[in-house]
Amino acid sequence: MAKGNGGAKKKAKSSKKSKKDAKAGPIVGVDVGGTKVLARLVDSETGEADGWAKASTPKTGLDDVFDTIEAVIDELLDGRASKDDLSAVGIGVPGPVDGDGLVQKCPNINGWDKPIQLSDVMGDRLGVDVVVSNDVNCGAVAEHRVGAGKGSDSLLAVFVGTGVGGGLVLDNKLVVGARGMVGEIGHMTVEPGGRPCGCGGAGHLECYAGRAGIDREARRRTEEGASPFLPDLVGSSPIKSRHIQAGVEAEDPLTLELVDDAVHALAQAIGNAASLLDIPVVVLGGGIVDRLGQTFLDDIAASPRFGGFGPDVTRLVLAERLDDAGAIGAALLAAQD
Ligand SMILES: [Zn+2]
Repeated sequence: MAKGNGGAKKKAKSSKKSKKDAKAGPIVGVDVGGTKVLARLVDSETGEADGWAKASTPKTGLDDVFDTIEAVIDELLDGRASKDDLSAVGIGVPGPVDGDGLVQKCPNINGWDKPIQLSDVMGDRLGVDVVVSNDVNCGAVAEHRVGAGKGSDSLLAVFVGTGVGGGLVLDNKLVVGARGMVGEIGHMTVEPGGRPCGCGGAGHLECYAGRAGIDREARRRTEEGASPFLPDLVGSSPIKSRHIQAGVEAEDPLTLELVDDAVHALAQAIGNAASLLDIPVVVLGGGIVDRLGQTFLDDIAASPRFGGFGPDVTRLVLAERLDDAGAIGAALLAAQD
């Protein structure tokens, strides 16, 4: 793994070279999310996964989160492998990670509001090399190696969730950039001066395609007299992907309009990004994509706002690894390191 590619391991300097040659044993991949911690045991050569273990992410502080990561790994290994045989542990986290494994913050995890050298913390606890990467980048790597993008040298993975995240693999290498910001497709401008974005900007892709943006807009338009289907369905709780799916199935006019906005915004941003980078395959995943499926992708490909050279040059495919992409990708990144 090259420097600055979003992952770093604990005992890097002295052991890196000799360890690299010895990466034959299995690797544990752990996806630390806002709601759950999921681990899988992965063959470092084939990417095949075996077994899984998971637990809820504690809301009671970071030490409890670290304890949970350790406990989930122990549960996964029980009867399958010894910790001594592991080549490494890869951990994906929902926040920015620098090239040395420093996690800046994870807004979705209670108490993670300051930088933590997670590769060191967990390396000390586990006694094995630990590689830490951003979860969206892990997802992109999983789709590239063992998912919908298998066989393609380059791909862009776009995950449409609360916001919109992206990961870029170019010529078989994950690219993260000098500041780890490659793939931030959610903050590409699709509507100058448009809806306000959580980042302080305006008119960004995730204001139109992300669940939080759709939620805000649905409530705003309902106050102005549009169909109250979505707010009526959820009350003061956040609008989830399944509610958007329900609105589409009920042919609620406001939901259809908001999904249409999402389709066109995604088409514009994805087309432009794919043309800039010569990307043949764009893998789309995340809650809304999972719910709306192939029809949603077909609508994006057919959008008159599809950017760049158009959908003939760039194929859109549904993500194949759903729940375990983060864990598998974290393990695969650790295997390369
Ligand atoms: Zn933004």
